[in-house]
Amino acid sequence: MSRNSRRAKVLHPNNGRALAACEPTRASRMRVLLMCLCGVLSLSVILGLYLNADPWTSHLHHDTHLMKDRLSHKPGKYSVAQIKKFAAQVNGHRLWETHLRPLLIERVPGTAGSQIIRQHILTQLGSLSAGWTLEENSFVSPTPKGDVTFTNVLAVLEPSAPRRLLLACHHDSKILPPDPKNPQRVFVGASDSAVPCAIILELAAALDTQLKALKQQKSAVTLQLVFFDGEEAFEEWTDTDSLYGSRHLAELMERTPHPPGSTKTTLLQAVDLLVLLDLLGGLEPLIVSHFDNTARWFDRLIAAEKRLHKQGLLTSHPIEQSYFRKDFYLGPVQDDHIPFLNRGVSVLHLIPTPFPLFWHTLDDTEEKMHRPTVENLTRILAIFVAEYLSL
Ligand SMILES: [Zn+2]
Repeated sequence: MSRNSRRAKVLHPNNGRALAACEPTRASRMRVLLMCLCGVLSLSVILGLYLNADPWTSHLHHDTHLMKDRLSHKPGKYSVAQIKKFAAQVNGHRLWETHLRPLLIERVPGTAGSQIIRQHILTQLGSLSAGWTLEENSFVSPTPKGDVTFTNVLAVLEPSAPRRLLLACHHDSKILPPDPKNPQRVFVGASDSAVPCAIILELAAALDTQLKALKQQKSAVTLQLVFFDGEEAFEEWTDTDSLYGSRHLAELMERTPHPPGSTKTTLLQAVDLLVLLDLLGGLEPLIVSHFDNTARWFDRLIAAEKRLHKQGLLTSHPIEQSYFRKDFYLGPVQDDHIPFLNRGVSVLHLIPTPFPLFWHTLDDTEEKMHRPTVENLTRILAIFVAEYLSL
């Protein structure tokens, strides 16, 4: 918008000068005519320069277009039968046994555990029919424990699509000393963030057929899955000791031209919305809306929860609006969305506040997770993703 007003400022004074020169004066008719001609000529030159300044003006147009498309994006509308169908595609057993269980190990950046779970994520997504483009995005960063190699796992459905919906979580686990009485008992971060990663894997599996069709349709908006490494601090949480993977990816996307070869727009500008899942898995999560500019998308989550509840498609869910609430706010939370938010990306931060009691303790285990809640959240998110992408 500010760039548009700058353009108006350039044209207006010249315009004004041209008009002023054409006003009746005491000068001779010829002089008036000449001045008018000069005015028209200079106006033409300015207009010509403006229209030919391709990189700048196209950049304006392109950038504004992406923003306009993003702001006017409409979700698909579904009948009761369609909602039922999407909910039924979520498989609670597969979510738990296939996706979650292999993630419940120590996953510290740069260790063998990290490599095992990254391979698990890649294998699961690689086995689907939609045809994901998979990538391990590795980089080395200094940490309080010396240089560490971090690896984000990225999956994009259609890399050349103009716009993207991002679903994200972190795959690393925090360094915590094991139980002194039982050294076998290590920190597995079930809610932090194995369950969110398992939910995202299950969403990809549950919606596989529709995502395959979306890719074939060459839709304007595609889906990208992001599994960040290094969300956790190695020691105390600071700006430099935390969010290693998300800081790296946000910077990388900001300097990556998109569509490929573009001199006008970047991959970061192609992000419609970043939906970040964290600390999910416990009983009765209270998830609030953190940002006004994404409140209308938060409303879709509330609506999905209510619709699924009314149709009896959620289990252990006594009241129709249990998880997603707009009537509470307990303050902002530092998380992987920050490097994107700081660069102007729209964010839905799906994290329970207050945090679960077992947060950053050895008790953040499978036993503390509430399976019906995890399945319910996955069904709600399946409706949300289906609506957003009009699957
Ligand atoms: Zn954590």
